[in-house]
Amino acid sequence: MKYESVRGMRDILPGEIGYWKQVEEKVREVATCFHYGEIRLPLMEHTEIFSRGIGEETDVVNKEMYTFLDKKNRSLTLRPEATASVVRAYLEHGLHIREPFQKLFYIGPMFRYEKPQKGRSRQFHQYGVEAIGSLDPTLDVDVISFAWTLMDMLGLSDLSLRLNTIGCAEDRQRYKKALSGYFAIHIDEMCTDCQRRYDSNPLRILDCKKSQCQPYIQQAPASIDYLCADCARHFAEVKGYLDELGLNYGIDARLIRGLDYYTRTVFELISKDLGAQDALLGGGRYDGLVELLGGPATPAVGFAGGMERLILVLQEKNRSFGQEKRLDLFLATLGEEGRLLALTLAQGLRSQGISVDLDYRGRSLRKQLGYADQIGVRYLIILGENEVSSRKGRIKNMGRGQEYEIALTADAIARIVHGSKHGD
Ligand code: AMP
Repeated sequence: MKYESVRGMRDILPGEIGYWKQVEEKVREVATCFHYGEIRLPLMEHTEIFSRGIGEETDVVNKEMYTFLDKKNRSLTLRPEATASVVRAYLEHGLHIREPFQKLFYIGPMFRYEKPQKGRSRQFHQYGVEAIGSLDPTLDVDVISFAWTLMDMLGLSDLSLRLNTIGCAEDRQRYKKALSGYFAIHIDEMCTDCQRRYDSNPLRILDCKKSQCQPYIQQAPASIDYLCADCARHFAEVKGYLDELGLNYGIDARLIRGLDYYTRTVFELISKDLGAQDALLGGGRYDGLVELLGGPATPAVGFAGGMERLILVLQEKNRSFGQEKRLDLFLATLGEEGRLLALTLAQGLRSQGISVDLDYRGRSLRKQLGYADQIGVRYLIILGENEVSSRKGRIKNMGRGQEYEIALTADAIARIVHGSKHGD
């Protein structure tokens, strides 16, 4: 029997991990600069959190959730996204009472039963931010600026931001009515999913990707024409601050995002390098979600981005990014005593933060040296009979080809390796 990973869920091997580690590091760095605190959440929630929070009629809830019963017949779901979980945690831990204004970020795996293809998998990873507790348009801009700053720090420039507003709950009702009126005359020509959405939530028709429905969707009314005065002002202010900060955007009147909790500002960051799955990240306001999940009316805004898609673009654009740090030192050994000395030295050096490796397979010296060369190690020491008895040896700087006499103690070796750590 040959075992394989579950379809749409893949392993990330050491050869690729450099990109992951560096993207995660950058997300954390930007979060520190923007003063967002990290939150880590369980991978599973009670199903209602998602079905209520995201909306029964969304594709995510309707088709894509990994839901199962536990041993006590409770319905649990592997999280398809993290915003609803963040809000659940915000309320569960009384943050809404202690300090209602919270800026949080997370990184972690999400699960959606989608058709796997480039940039789309069933277990994927998101980084995301949630800023809870203010309706001020500067907070929308803080979140958008976070996204742009991250992309800048990753060296990605050829991106575009699509921006729209879908208004408050009342605006949405007016907009839905307008959509119902408009689609009434076309719905018979559209797909069966759209026909179902027409009855349950006509807004979701705009999510449809089927080519048969596109001509009708493209001509549909725009949400921006159904805003109340407050929402129109809010959007104008968001755009004003974005202009002020020089953050580029284009208005996309049909952008509504696929989850029901969104209100007012919505946005997506797009990369041409991704093909059909072109959204690097997406987000917006969700001013009704805290209340929907049982808390006080609390406005909020956030975004989530896909790690896999970001890494796809980085692999295309910025290859140097994924490079892992080189190994500092390889201890090549001859004989059992050489190996024993190598083990002791490695122990002392590793505890001083130096990366060290040696041979664990009894390979010949020639093979060990070949391996050290192949992995591009920075320093090499050969430990044979003479070195063991004299406790003196030679350390070779592999980049420069120079060798130095050295006392074979961890401290002496560490001084040389540390001394040049930033030099080559
Ligand atoms: P959403 O939570 O649907 O707003 O998606 C936010 C971002 O997560 C998208 O822009 C993608 O970058 C990423 N994403 C969503 N679904 C998937 C998936 N199935 N596979 C890979 N990335 C995804």
